[in-house]
Amino acid sequence: MKYNSIMIHYGELSTKGNNRKLFIQQLLHNVRVALKAFPTNTTGARDHIYVDVSEVEDIAPVISRLQEVSGIQRITPVCKVEKEIMKVKEAALELLQEAKPKTFKVETKRADKTYPLDSYGISRQVGGYLLAKMETAEVDVHSPEAVLRVNMREDACYLSLAEYPGIGGYPLGMNGKVTMLLSGGIDSPVAAYSLIRRGIRVDCLHFASPPYTSDAVLDKLSDILKELNTYQSDIKLDVVPFTKLQDEIYRNVAEPYCITIMRRMMVRIAVGVAKKSKALAIATGESIGQVASQTLESLSVINEVTNFPILRPLATSDKVEIINTAKRINTYEISIRPFEDCCTIFKPRKPKTKPNLKDCEYYESKFDWQKLVEECIENVRHIYFSNGEEVRQEAKKGE
Ligand code: ATP
Ligand code: MG
Repeated sequence: MKYNSIMIHYGELSTKGNNRKLFIQQLLHNVRVALKAFPTNTTGARDHIYVDVSEVEDIAPVISRLQEVSGIQRITPVCKVEKEIMKVKEAALELLQEAKPKTFKVETKRADKTYPLDSYGISRQVGGYLLAKMETAEVDVHSPEAVLRVNMREDACYLSLAEYPGIGGYPLGMNGKVTMLLSGGIDSPVAAYSLIRRGIRVDCLHFASPPYTSDAVLDKLSDILKELNTYQSDIKLDVVPFTKLQDEIYRNVAEPYCITIMRRMMVRIAVGVAKKSKALAIATGESIGQVASQTLESLSVINEVTNFPILRPLATSDKVEIINTAKRINTYEISIRPFEDCCTIFKPRKPKTKPNLKDCEYYESKFDWQKLVEECIENVRHIYFSNGEEVRQEAKKGE
């Protein structure tokens, strides 16, 4: 008897009382989309989602795919059988014979309280049968090699031997959309992933400053987004032509303030783009104290330009944690490819770690940045990524 179903345990559903229905509906939809390539049939219930895999030859790739879907806590391949005790015993034997453990125990959960045997009675009967039929296996209740779980539910009996962790969080699409500032470094893809895991869709935004930055950055971003497609199957990248504004900043602003002013401009532009695409916040990969522009003093001066929400998912993460996540989601190797970012290219020798607002306003009064910011928002170029492929490039206006 092979596994004929997969039981999906919901993520943080318990904390979202009122949103239960929305959570399940969204996750059900996302699971169906994720498993499109497999001959499966997915149905949702109050406490679990079930994926019928009786037509699937090898369920390993199905499990791997589910491990990339946010909102799933655990994944259990199960053998669904009728509740008749002899059928349960036979199916249990087949599962165990395939796994060939030296020691095992049986654990029973009886959700169906009307079932004639209690959980202890079921475990005893099934365990006794297995012991008699499996010549080489022994029962070990303390540290068995295999635990056969019998889950006696209302509709059927579910047998399982193993469980796989999911990524948890909320189903994607459940918590709105944000505009994520994506640089090409290590941090911002990890920040994007953290948002997606919380059920937030991301649109990405990149500031390009050709000829100071090369098109190689776009190749890098493209590779990063194709990896992020694993967790969000469709992602839009907006590329902002930033050169003109950046030149003006460096013409008018004293060197130690350049980065702060540039960040303030980035935020203004990002908010404009976010509003246009109906995102509810912008987000960055900033982490407190990591570099000069990420001290709390800097962040507060940067924040002054807007009251639109700015999310910083990595605010308190340390670099080792961030790198580990980057490796796990396959963006690390892409991010460490050398590249010229608009931030690194004009890196001041002595950036201001505690900029003050008055000075920022003084420098900004020296040039007509409003028009340039408007132009940046107007001339954004859109690139779309879907399931690991670049699908469509939209020319910017007037091209
Ligand atoms: P990252 O690894 O994400 O580049 P970082 O530690 O190098 O982060 P910075 O380069 O100071 O930090 O950038 C901080 C954040 O500002 C980035 O995480 C990103 O969200 C945003 N950012 C920086 N440069 C750009 C850019 N060219 N386009 C879009 N966003 C950017
Ligand atoms: Mg960077």
